[in-house]
Order: sequence, then C-alpha cells, then structure tokens
Amino acid sequence: MASNRAVTLSTGTTHQARKRFGQNFLHDQQVIDRIIREIAPSHDDHLLEIGPGQGALTKQLAKSGARLDCVELDRDLAEHLRHQYRDYDNVHIHQQDILKFDLNDLELDDRRLRIIGNLPYNISTPVLFHLLKFYEKIEDMSFMLQLEVVERMAADVGDKDYGRLSLMLQYFCRAEKLFNVPPQAFTPQPKVNSAIVRLTPYAEPPVKAKDVECLKLVVRTAFNQRRKTLKNSLKTLISEDALADLAINMKLRPENLGLTDYVKISDAISSLAN
Ligand code: SAM
Repeated sequence: MASNRAVTLSTGTTHQARKRFGQNFLHDQQVIDRIIREIAPSHDDHLLEIGPGQGALTKQLAKSGARLDCVELDRDLAEHLRHQYRDYDNVHIHQQDILKFDLNDLELDDRRLRIIGNLPYNISTPVLFHLLKFYEKIEDMSFMLQLEVVERMAADVGDKDYGRLSLMLQYFCRAEKLFNVPPQAFTPQPKVNSAIVRLTPYAEPPVKAKDVECLKLVVRTAFNQRRKTLKNSLKTLISEDALADLAINMKLRPENLGLTDYVKISDAISSLAN
C-alpha cells in the first residue's frame, strides 16, 4: 500500500503522497492535455491554481505566459515548485491554505481571475464557498472534483442530485460538467470517479435575494427535512399566511422548487424581519 503512495518528483526526490492533504496526483497526459484545452489559457489571463501538487497542470499553465499564482499547502511541494519555476517571472508560489487565502492579496488588476484546481476532495465544498465570497473577481473556475459532487452542482430542479449545493452554487454561477476522469488517471488512485466542472460566475445573478444569508438558511432548513413538504419544513421560519401570499405550492417537496421560488420565500422572510 505504502509504495502506491510514493511518487517521484521531477527533481528525482521521492515524495510520499499525503492522504490528509488529499494528494492524488494526475499522471494521465491525455487527461492533462484535455483539461488544458478546455481552459485554453492565454498570455493575457490572470490564473490561480489551487493545489498544484507536483505541477501536472502547472507546467502548461506557466508556459502560456499568463500571470500564474499557485496556492499549495504542502511545504515540500511548494518548495519544489518554487525551485522548478524559479526562472519564470510570471509564476508565483504561495505556500498557504486556500481556505484562509484572501484573493485580494493577489495583485489584482482589472482582469478577473481564472481559477483552476484538481481539488482535494475532502475540502472541495468549503473551498468553493470560500471562493464564492470573491465571485465578482472571478471570470471562471475549472475544477476536478468527485463525480458525485459535480452531478450535485449541475443538477436541475427535480433531478435526484438536486439539493443545497445545486441551489447555492447556481445562485452565483453557471455550472457545466465537462467530462469524466477515471481513478486510473491518478497516483495513488482515488476510490471514486472524478469529473471536470466549469463554473462561470454571473456578472449579475439572474435572481437576486435581498439577503443571501437568509436564502442559505431557507434552503438549508428545507433540505434538512427532505421528505417533508415545504409547508411543514419551513414553518419555523415563516407563517402559513405569509406563505399563502407567495402563490407557491407549499405541498411540494424541497427538490421540486426552483431557485426563483426559494428567493421569493427568502425575500418574504427578510421583509418580515425588517
Ligand atoms: N494539481 C495536482 C495534480 O493534478 O496532480 C495535485 C492535485 S491533489 C488532488 C490536491 C493538491 O492540493 C495537493 O497538492 C495538496 O497538497 C493540495 N492541498 C490540499 N489541501 C490544500 C489547501 N487547504 N490549500 C491549498 N492546497 C491544498
């Protein structure tokens, strides 16, 4: 088992893949090339790569001539990348935790960021919600994630995978699944299938809630009791009379209601609270 986790860095040193950092390194060149083709990095871009690891994607991103900031938590790998890209003026390695990283610390100009990452699966959802705090500064995000998570992100109302993640992500972004990636493309191999997703934040969200925190609360409360009708699951937040005014069929279950209707409910609650 242990030897399966040992990988050789391009400098010739051996790196033991660290499970706690979700290290599954991409080695399949066809998959790497396809991801790069989808991203199509250009000299004029400002790219941010999360978790570059041993640099499977970094190499071609750096060669595009774009400004490239990389945030890598693992000290050894960050050191290795600093060494490897020491002659590239366009590449900047930050040895930091992306969950604590403030995108405003990058030297942002009027270009919005293009974010890329083969993310550690155990922290992928918190990473996304952390990045969405800066959504106005982001042009697009291309991520490798667990297939099941990508399906939840891109699900439509009524789909079996539709839920909190679909709603809250689609509030900010358009979500498109690009292609699947099998476990064999990585060393060591993960136990799950993966997929590439592209998220494109809206310049202006198509529906806008008065209070996004209230919308999050409504969605969380509804999906916490997935089997109940909305009338029952939301009764702690809003009275039946107030709900009746919204002309939404409250006998529906949470997976049958679209974003616009969740925003209507959330706005009614926000108005009552003010
Ligand atoms: N991009 C590389 C590839 O495709 O082979 C590595 C991908 S590996 C799945 C995830 C990478 O994210 C690892 O290099 C890991 O050390 C790094 N990482 C884990 N947690 C992180 C965090 N909180 N902030 C930044 N990087 C992190």
